[in-house]
Amino acid sequence: MSLTSTSISDSDQTGVVGSWFDAQRSTPRPASLSRETDGSWRVTVGDEHITGAASDVQVTDRLGTVPRRLRWPGGAEFDTPDNDGIDRLLGRSPAVAAFVDRLERGWTTALASLLILVALSALFIEHGLPALSRQIAMLVPHRVEAGLGTRVLEWVDTMLLDDSSLEQDTRARLTTAFDGMTSSLDDGYAYRLLFRGGALGPNAMALPGGIVIVTDDLVKLARHDEEILAVLAHEIGHVRGRHTLRHLVQASGVSALAAVLLGDLSQITALATAAPALLEMRHARDLEREADGFAREWLRTHGMAESRFDDMLCRLAASTGGADSSMPSFMSSHPPVDERAACRPAEDQR
Ligand SMILES: [Zn+2]
Repeated sequence: MSLTSTSISDSDQTGVVGSWFDAQRSTPRPASLSRETDGSWRVTVGDEHITGAASDVQVTDRLGTVPRRLRWPGGAEFDTPDNDGIDRLLGRSPAVAAFVDRLERGWTTALASLLILVALSALFIEHGLPALSRQIAMLVPHRVEAGLGTRVLEWVDTMLLDDSSLEQDTRARLTTAFDGMTSSLDDGYAYRLLFRGGALGPNAMALPGGIVIVTDDLVKLARHDEEILAVLAHEIGHVRGRHTLRHLVQASGVSALAAVLLGDLSQITALATAAPALLEMRHARDLEREADGFAREWLRTHGMAESRFDDMLCRLAASTGGADSSMPSFMSSHPPVDERAACRPAEDQR
């Protein structure tokens, strides 16, 4: 969390006047916005100062007279109708920004939107919604994807999952291993491993933006940490391929398309309303193969036996086999185990 309250000395920039909404969305309070010399944003509300790094605060694009919005991580927001003021703080000439805005709202945008619409329609007709979802998912900036992941996590935590009851030592050990796996990936994702209990059984899932959830039951089912790491690698493969994001885009269909056509990808966070679709998530076979491929490659390059992955998949299949559950399951959302893993007798697994 990079939201900090400080009492900083005065800034020489004139503030932009607007309203501050805290993360709980209580009543808006009059506030003024300025920038520090290091580029970070500073909101003054009464005698309180709230700062946010430029990389963490999301600024909406100028669109006509629509009020500008600066979103802080965690959900707090600063709103203002002063578009020129925001452009000035962003270091853009208000005249140029207004001109670009007029252009954007003019015929060039209409034409560009039409071309995009034609291209997307052609893509849709030829390859259908999955291909379109992939194209849209690939356009979403990491930062926006992370915001979506946080909202989906809130939903999942409310609806599906409980706190983990695993021992602290176990969690710490696996978290260290996970951090080691992800620190060298350098793919723009801020990975986080979360442990959860609840009624999902042995399960793991990847949320947009790098959140990987593993259930207590899956950890308990494993006979070796490397089996868990293999599952985590599989989920990392889903994150890198933006598979869950694609699924949410697909489930929300029209609203995602509208976000692209309106040129406001920040609206993608609204896809969190499609989170219930995760309940019936069935990743396509090719996405599972892609994630499996990533897991196997990771095991090989780290000197671990691929059979760790096979053993875990086979044990998961045996533990959830035949269960007709409406809950998402690591195995039921995947192609049949005999297509994916070489199962061997339990006595050979060690
Ligand atoms: Zn999967």
